[in-house]
Amino acid sequence: MFVVPLIERKRDGAALTAEEWSALIAAYTDGRIPDYQVSALLMAVVFRGLERHELAALTDAMLASGERLSFDGWNTPRIDKHSTGGVGDKVSLVLAPLVAACGVAVPMMSGRGLGHTGGTLDKLEAIPGFRTGLSLSEAKAQVMKIGCALIGQTPEIAPADKRLYALRDVTATVEAIPLIAASIMSKKLAEGLSGLVLDVKHGSGAFLPPTEKGLELARTMIALGEDRGCPTVALLTAMDRPLGRACGNALETEEAILALRGEGPEDLMEVTYALGVEMLLQAKVETTAKKARKKLESVLGSGLAAEKFEQIIEAQGGNPKTLDDPSVLPQAGAVEVFMAPATGVVQRVDPRLIGRAVVQLGGGRTKVDDVVDPTVGFVITVKPGDKVLAGEPIASVFAKDPAGIQLGFDALTRAIVIGDKLREKPLPLISHRVTKAGVEVLGKAAS
Ligand code: URA
Repeated sequence: MFVVPLIERKRDGAALTAEEWSALIAAYTDGRIPDYQVSALLMAVVFRGLERHELAALTDAMLASGERLSFDGWNTPRIDKHSTGGVGDKVSLVLAPLVAACGVAVPMMSGRGLGHTGGTLDKLEAIPGFRTGLSLSEAKAQVMKIGCALIGQTPEIAPADKRLYALRDVTATVEAIPLIAASIMSKKLAEGLSGLVLDVKHGSGAFLPPTEKGLELARTMIALGEDRGCPTVALLTAMDRPLGRACGNALETEEAILALRGEGPEDLMEVTYALGVEMLLQAKVETTAKKARKKLESVLGSGLAAEKFEQIIEAQGGNPKTLDDPSVLPQAGAVEVFMAPATGVVQRVDPRLIGRAVVQLGGGRTKVDDVVDPTVGFVITVKPGDKVLAGEPIASVFAKDPAGIQLGFDALTRAIVIGDKLREKPLPLISHRVTKAGVEVLGKAAS
């Protein structure tokens, strides 16, 4: 395939045809085009964007590069949720079993930590024995049996995305709306869903911090989903501070378990319930947001959601005792409490600095083949707007050794800014609801 003229055209701002995108993706997936040519093309897309018909062709070609889950003849509604990535975002671990316990099937395919953001697979794998690498047929059988499977991208699903994603990660071409949208939607559309709910993060800890960019990403993904028969809705949620208290794999899994037991932090529960409401509405198991919220609260309160998580853990080879006794999760070698360095008001808890520090502590990857340390991270008990007294405990660092504790303290000192008053209002926790009909501003007060 002669790729240079295609790169030139994209570089100069012209559009490629659907046939050209399809041939490019097929050839790249088969190894017939080298990475350096695709890198150049991706960079051209970062600068020039894609026209709507090109984005559709790219997404379809990525989807067609692999297999699709098919639930033909099975009437249970299947809904997934996908987050564009954040710090402390353990929502999937609470939401998937909760929604499955409400009678909706949740075939959830998640990712690993990426950049400064955490990944659901790494959190699940903190559970001793938990296997995320199910084949498509295993995942399908489990979804049909217990209503939920929590898996990683299998080699069968959108293999083109797998290759492209790895290339984008090392060529500074992640942060482009059409590329993110095609990447996420090519995987989601392969899951055989009846509906999809997107959690689009905005704020300093998101891949695309400006709210306008978050809205554009949401609209782009919704159009791709709806045009392909998958009803898609998005909520924009705050990522200008970490979500919940725990940041780091085993710590977040523990917080998710506490949440399933009814002891979750308020912001985590609000985001989980809001996304859960959308999932129940899409599945048509409830007709109003109020009824859907009530159902979610009662299923969580009755312990059914925790039981569902236990079933999922058991089905995927994990230690089911983790639910009753989270101390079976791997534990850090060193733990130290961090005190407020001054009296005042918390102005910022910087999610990027915290996310990066988790990676530096060993809780994320700097190279693809790095092994993640599940035990490390932070528990931060303050939020922007909280009043603190000098010397009051406001966080804990979990590390492998004393050097890690020092690294964690340094990160907290930079990430938690205390001043005389709140200078910048935190983003509303859940600010917008986006559907194919348009954008609704929710702007709930930040917690
Ligand atoms: N998650 C994905 O799956 N792909 C992206 O490009 C960004 C986040």
